[in-house]
Amino acid sequence: MTTTAIIYSDEWRHFDYGREHPLRMERLGLTWRLMEAYHLTALPRAKVLAPEAARLEELARFHTREYLEILRAVSAGDWVPHAARYGLGPGDNPIFPGLWEAAQLAAGGSLLAADLVAAGEVDRAFHFAGGLHHAMPGRASGFCYVNDPVLAIMRLRERGFRVAYVDIDAHHGDGVQAAFYADPNVLTISTHERGDRLFPGTGFVAEMGEGDGFGFSVNVPLQPLTDDAVYHEAFEAVVPPLVTAFKPDVLVIQLGIDSHRTDPLTHLSLTVQGFTRAVRRLLPLAPRIVALGGGGYDLTNVARAWTSAWAALNDIELREALPRECHKDMERLGLGTLTLSDPPETLPADTRRWAEEYARRQVGEIQAKIFPRHGL
Ligand SMILES: [Zn+2]
Repeated sequence: MTTTAIIYSDEWRHFDYGREHPLRMERLGLTWRLMEAYHLTALPRAKVLAPEAARLEELARFHTREYLEILRAVSAGDWVPHAARYGLGPGDNPIFPGLWEAAQLAAGGSLLAADLVAAGEVDRAFHFAGGLHHAMPGRASGFCYVNDPVLAIMRLRERGFRVAYVDIDAHHGDGVQAAFYADPNVLTISTHERGDRLFPGTGFVAEMGEGDGFGFSVNVPLQPLTDDAVYHEAFEAVVPPLVTAFKPDVLVIQLGIDSHRTDPLTHLSLTVQGFTRAVRRLLPLAPRIVALGGGGYDLTNVARAWTSAWAALNDIELREALPRECHKDMERLGLGTLTLSDPPETLPADTRRWAEEYARRQVGEIQAKIFPRHGL
């Protein structure tokens, strides 16, 4: 019997990136309420835990002390002359009160997920406020101040586990790739919209790792408008074979849902059911799972996708009709059809072909250059 844990705190509602910022903290509470309405927050074999703030020393395993001190200072309202050098300021990574505590909490939740899985307390842990994959050692990037996936992977490595990381966010998981670029003990795979069309501008197939780590960084860039069918053909061709060959003890998965066709920041064309299919495909690939959240800027998708992911982690099938308690929330946020899955939508044939041919070329290159490194 699979045992699980979900990590959640309503502390999140005290933080705010600002009115104009696309990352809405509201999405976390909304997700929790949908999980509650589906009776997924009091399951017999699932622990529900609140994160503790990560300590500075824990964050300093990956981040520079200089950067962490700056984060702490700007968060407390101190004036820092060169905040922009650390990626901080108006725009993607705004300075807001409590930003340091928010960063500590995000990291603490993912470290807790890693610890629970490492200690064998549960087989699978989900921290959906985590997955902030763009943060760099000395710089905030792409709405991310500290890189909780990297910290969780490092924690698992310190406990002696072999770790694979699969990132299905619409954006390239650049911070995580950079952290382990030369490390053959951590396999990173990211599927995302191609870097010449979307932030952060990286994640091309040619980024394959360096030195001993060559062949252990894997990127599957995709065309705008890539739909479920095209996505899954590429995913299936690359992800299960490589992860299976790598034989991880723990699979860390970043479950950004900004790949959705209604996401306002990106241009992929997945559905909630397409996302969930990928999650379900990942779970049997390793004995233990640390699942994290990620991007997602159409809030109704975030709630539906992460609720579906949590159900999948518990091997539960949900009914399609969204529970009545959540109808008001979903309608207010513009969801047209009050179901867990999205209505079908077919792309024009030439658009699909264009996306499909591109994806097949990327897969072909990965199979030619990376598969041999893994004996495939
Ligand atoms: Zn993203």
